[in-house]
Amino acid sequence: MTKDSGISGKTAIVTGGSRGIGRAIVERLADDGADVTFFYRDNATAANEVVAAALAAGLKVAAEQVDIRDSAACAAAVERIADRCGRIHILVNNAGITRDNPLAAFDDDDVAAVLATNVTGVFNVTRAVVPYMTSQRSGSIVNLSSVSGDKGGRGQTNYAASKGAINAFTRALAVELAPRKVRVNCVAPGVIETEMSADVREQSGDAVLARILLRRYGKPEEVADAVWFLASAHASYVTGQVFAIDGGFKME
Ligand code: NAD
Repeated sequence: MTKDSGISGKTAIVTGGSRGIGRAIVERLADDGADVTFFYRDNATAANEVVAAALAAGLKVAAEQVDIRDSAACAAAVERIADRCGRIHILVNNAGITRDNPLAAFDDDDVAAVLATNVTGVFNVTRAVVPYMTSQRSGSIVNLSSVSGDKGGRGQTNYAASKGAINAFTRALAVELAPRKVRVNCVAPGVIETEMSADVREQSGDAVLARILLRRYGKPEEVADAVWFLASAHASYVTGQVFAIDGGFKME
């Protein structure tokens, strides 16, 4: 008999779900029966389109406009979701931004915006969710890191520092929450076909492809499958890990 993923009927929060990898994660979890609420920053049209498509397919998906840099807004949104759904079982910290440039060319905001979104934003949402998971003695948190957190990339000191921080955050929180039966893991994508990576794919072309063993870019759905696995009962003995979904990017 096939093992149940345990996702059906669970409440999930996904940050940055209006497009790209986040949208694929929302759809993957909802398709397996989760009740998913995603946060988006400002593109209400894109968010409404994701919700409408999901509802038309009979899935349970809702959207909340929450800027994850705003800790009070994160806390209030998480409380609303908990009031509505009773519990929160899955958190996917997906929202993230890049502001690539050589270090000396950064202005203050290029550094501050990336750290505020990719690091402080993860703290803001996770801090609001964790009490619900620890009190119910179950939960799974999946953070989106990047190969950049582990391997240097030109023009990405701000982004690499933020994603390295998320790898460290994942390991430390896994230690802290294991006694309460909450698992914390990380997915580290390579180059995935989304709007975020459009410039990299356009500008570096074959040079980047040559460093990927599978000689192609990844698809958002391939990252979503890994997130689904880590969130599911199939990963019940996995915590504190950074799982690369990169076509072998780091191996050459
Ligand atoms: P994307 O730019 O297509 O989407 C990012 C999403 O995050 C958008 O929905 C955006 O609205 C949301 N977001 C950004 N700032 C926010 C804020 N302050 N509050 C709420 N939402 C906010 O990016 P993507 O390619 O889908 O990337 C998703 C995640 O995967 C990011 O954390 C990114 O760093 C990581 N990642 C992407 C790649 C890639 O090649 N695309 C590679 C490695 C890691």
